[in-house]
Amino acid sequence: MKRYFGAFLFFAFLISCQQNPDDNLHVYNGFTMGTTYSIKVLGESDSSIDYDMLKGKIDSILVEVNRQMSTYIDTSEISKFNKSLANEWISVSADLIKVIDAAKWISSVSGGAFDITVGPLVNLWGFGTENKEFEIPSEDEINQIKPIVGYDKVSVDFNANSLSKTTDGISCDLSAIAKGFGVDKVGKYFEHLGIENYLVEIGGEIRTRGINQHGKIWAIGISRPDSYSGIQQAITLHNLSMATSGDYRNYFEEDGVRYSHTIDPRTGRPIVHNLASVTVLHEDCMMADAIATAIDVLGKKEGLKLAEELDVPVYMIIRKGKVFEEVMSGSFRMLLIKSN
Ligand code: ADP
Ligand code: MG
Repeated sequence: MKRYFGAFLFFAFLISCQQNPDDNLHVYNGFTMGTTYSIKVLGESDSSIDYDMLKGKIDSILVEVNRQMSTYIDTSEISKFNKSLANEWISVSADLIKVIDAAKWISSVSGGAFDITVGPLVNLWGFGTENKEFEIPSEDEINQIKPIVGYDKVSVDFNANSLSKTTDGISCDLSAIAKGFGVDKVGKYFEHLGIENYLVEIGGEIRTRGINQHGKIWAIGISRPDSYSGIQQAITLHNLSMATSGDYRNYFEEDGVRYSHTIDPRTGRPIVHNLASVTVLHEDCMMADAIATAIDVLGKKEGLKLAEELDVPVYMIIRKGKVFEEVMSGSFRMLLIKSN
């Protein structure tokens, strides 16, 4: 058995990002949510913003998102909820309520393909916080967990900002949506400061607004599956966010079978179809992040249907033996940067 774990590497290559001393470009790099972040802000010459102080503010925003949403922090809000018992109400932040509400909505529109209550299944398959050895679980083990999986078993009280579960053992995993939320949170903070031109990237999930240091729309490369060097496609991303889910950055391989970290909550098993990656564009990165995971679970046909229903540009890379096939919506195709 071999585990492949590439989630810490950049998925998206940012192109047109060389720094020129004449450009008023500020670049901030760091670590958060078990991965890296890379942020570019185009400064205004007459601005009162202290760009050197911005790094500390970015880090404190991301520390706060982790304190709310990380299952790797025992005292986080989500960890407290996960440890709570049925019918107890747990007070949480408005931010966490917002993420849980969005997650439940995407669960319902995707027919349960997206489901943050997959936590116990993610752990059972060895992709969770328990960091256990990968071993294919038995049908019995999967069936024992199924009763504690289901997004409708989490209730939200919007007035009191609190969460409750219908069944003991329900445990939420926000890995498929919290990165996108963190990206938005930092981006919205910049907007609040009056910054109009920026790019925020956490672990490959990206939000852009305005233009880059060359006065052009931000250009983003989408990496080729199974390779960290090549770019499969490049797009312009104007006032949009982009997120990707794939089966090639975090998986186990046993007897030639690839077990992805994306679990189909309806079967209790990792997805088995041949979608290597799904890229989704949306105004908000949180939505792009979660919808990309939902489409990844649904597969090509159902996934395209959901993208159409939600009216989101989508790009899929499908594994066909040793080659890759591309499928994209018309709205995504329009953003492609043609290579000569
Ligand atoms: P990445 O974390 O690499 O950006 P995703 O956004 O697709 O990729 O999130 C995948 C993670 O989400 C998994 O590692 C797991 O923790 C969790 N997860 C797995 N299956 C689902 C699912 N069906 N719905 C929601 N979250 C899931
Ligand atoms: Mg996701």
